[in-house]
Amino acid sequence: MKTVRKKKFYHGIILLVILMNKFFSLGKIIIKKLHEFGYEAYFVGGFVRDYLLGVEPKDVDITTNALPEEVEEIFDNTRATGKKYGTITVFIEDFSFEVTTYRIDQLYLNHRKPQSVVFSQKLKEDLSRRDFTINALAMNDKAEVIDLFNGQDDLKNGIIRAIGNADERFKEDALRILRALRFVSRLNFAVEENTLHSMKNNLGLLNKLANERICSELEEIFANPYNKSAVNYMDIIGFKDVFSEFASGIEVYLESEYNLDFRQFFALNLYLSKKEIPEVWKLSNKDKLLIYKYVHILNTIKNTHFNPLILYKCGLNVPLQANEILKVLKKDNNQEELIVQIFQELPIKKREELAINGHDILGLQDINNEEIIGKVIDEIESQVVLGHLKNETTILKEYAKQLLERLDG
Ligand code: ATP
Ligand code: MG
Repeated sequence: MKTVRKKKFYHGIILLVILMNKFFSLGKIIIKKLHEFGYEAYFVGGFVRDYLLGVEPKDVDITTNALPEEVEEIFDNTRATGKKYGTITVFIEDFSFEVTTYRIDQLYLNHRKPQSVVFSQKLKEDLSRRDFTINALAMNDKAEVIDLFNGQDDLKNGIIRAIGNADERFKEDALRILRALRFVSRLNFAVEENTLHSMKNNLGLLNKLANERICSELEEIFANPYNKSAVNYMDIIGFKDVFSEFASGIEVYLESEYNLDFRQFFALNLYLSKKEIPEVWKLSNKDKLLIYKYVHILNTIKNTHFNPLILYKCGLNVPLQANEILKVLKKDNNQEELIVQIFQELPIKKREELAINGHDILGLQDINNEEIIGKVIDEIESQVVLGHLKNETTILKEYAKQLLERLDG
């Protein structure tokens, strides 16, 4: 490992240990306080999983038999972030902890959320309602683990396994299918066979979920380092039969050695299928615009190379990101160096740098049709960007005159 990378690596590890210790020691304060008031309390879920794996946790969940109102009474700084479902967020220093009452989830609605929850006094009941064995570990304030579903074995062996009857669990909440893929892409785990089979059987239920939820899960899946493994599972469970918009891209992506994020992956599919983003996809306007920019760039340079006009119009980053898609499409089609070089050598980077403006053009001759000014500027801008005209006022004025004669005729 190079020295700089080594340093960064150790720096990352140290930060992780500090963060983990901080979460653990502050979480312990919460757990001990709940004990003082006579309640049970444990770290639970993703935090325990990540603690045991030694990876950075996203958030900290604590499970307790204290009721939400009791949690609110015990701690000074709280917010009722999900009181109906038993969750009170407790703040200590700059950290937040989700403290949730043991609960049993009942009557799932629309294959997503429990219609009602019943608070419980039994840790076992709370752990049973969770999705996967690796997410159903509890840990006390002495870092002793309570493991009712062999989650530690699955953690060691890198396995994602649904708790209880997998088929029922995915029927209750179909989003769990995408959660499973999210853990694959984050941890490079394998999905246990029976769990995988049920994911396949229930995949169609994803259509019943709010598209925003699907978008945010897919974004996370693709943002993780092992997204190829997750896409491989998508292929196995027949993702493209349910989401035909991804029918063209999955195989191409799997054959390549490069990684894309979700927007790039979407653009790859649109480019290959020559289709537009289907209405059902509730992507933000910003994301849609970006995806269409990628597709536009891919179409523009289909059989050729990046040119100054693309770099001038799109800046440096978007073409570099489009180039990643290009590499997926054709391994030896890496134009990164060319893109950077063209960008650095652009004669101008924005219109304000043009050595002529609308006023200058108005002063050249009487113009009856003012729309023409815009056209003249557009044309001059392109010529300057392409290097066909020097960006000097006298040269541009001369060229503008010729253009005006032609256009205003
Ligand atoms: P992340 O690291 O992304 O936060 P996580 O597993 O911690 O992953 P959270 O959304 O923080 O996910 O949820 C915390 C815990 O709550 C999970 O570990 C799991 O035990 C439980 N949980 C979350 N979502 C579901 C679900 N849809 N079905 C069943 N249990 C769930
Ligand atoms: Mg979490």
